[in-house]
Amino acid sequence: MGVMGEHAVVIGASMAGLVAAKALAPRFRQVTVFERDTLPDQAENRRAGPHGGHAPALLISGRPALEKLFPGLTDELVEGGAVLFDRGHDLLCHQMGAPRVRFAGGGLGVRLSRAHLEHAVRGRVAALEYAGIRDRTPVHELVLDRGRVTGVELGEGERIPDDLVVDATGRGGGGPAPTLQRHGFPEPEVDTVKIDVGYTTRLLHRSPGDLHDGALLYLTSAVPCGPPGRPGASRTPAGRPSPGHAALLAARRSPARRSASGPADRPVAARGARSGPVPHTVPR
Ligand SMILES: Cc1cc2nc3c(=O)[nH]c(=O)nc-3n(C[C@H](O)[C@H](O)[C@H](O)COP(=O)(O)OP(=O)(O)OC[C@H]3O[C@@H](n4cnc5c(N)ncnc54)[C@H](O)[C@@H]3O)c2cc1C
Repeated sequence: MGVMGEHAVVIGASMAGLVAAKALAPRFRQVTVFERDTLPDQAENRRAGPHGGHAPALLISGRPALEKLFPGLTDELVEGGAVLFDRGHDLLCHQMGAPRVRFAGGGLGVRLSRAHLEHAVRGRVAALEYAGIRDRTPVHELVLDRGRVTGVELGEGERIPDDLVVDATGRGGGGPAPTLQRHGFPEPEVDTVKIDVGYTTRLLHRSPGDLHDGALLYLTSAVPCGPPGRPGASRTPAGRPSPGHAALLAARRSPARRSASGPADRPVAARGARSGPVPHTVPR
């Protein structure tokens, strides 16, 4: 594969930045990922990691896409406590007052903590020979020369030359893209699709048999066009080594702010009342 340049810079060491670094590594002599957050050595939540305490899953297309870039990643994740599940069979779904029909072959998802996924992928990128990750290093500006980006500027004016910059600073922004507008480049068009959904998560104590022979339980009383504020909930194993815990995720349509104790979710809410405090670190 041909080399495209000497140095590529990626801004942001979250999921997009890490996979970008891996994809660029064979095409540049050096790839550097700059991250403003402190990156933990372990699979722990970090300040800027979105939905750290929630109950995430890698959906059907995400897993093979990551597996292609990082061969063996699925096995590594499962080894660390992730749960593979068939969306048709293992996801027990109670929706609009009735259980959904179960069927095999619904596609393979992975239930795991965000911290576990990011930690595994970060480890793979950090192990690349010609890639480096520098945390606690925000990028402040893009450096331009005659309308072309030629580098990035860090704190105290330190400039890092490069041939390519990937801005992977996420939806929270904070990246240096406005520099481009200051240099006369047009602002990109933005389409916003407002879905009015909020998340609340708790870790629950789980009893044996709660999930029957399934891997996840998804309960929802909300219908897509229903009244705002009706919560839905999902219960999922939090992963080894805490088989006695499940994560309760309550998604509700804003603007109403309600607890997860809507009438249709009373059994889950009752269990929620016995739940323990949500630790900062999601058990692996
Ligand atoms: C409530 C919630 C639940 C979700 N659940 C799931 C799920 O179950 N499964 C799933 O696959 N996805 C889920 N997502 C989506 C997922 O979180 C995002 O798609 C993903 O985090 C986007 O990754 P990213 O790398 O683009 O951006 P981000 O994760 O936002 O990361 C951007 C990074 O850039 C860094 N950064 C910003 N500015 C600078 C700067 N100037 N210099 C250096 N670094 C900088 C930030 O610190 C951060 O680390 C969920 C999102 C939310 C909000």
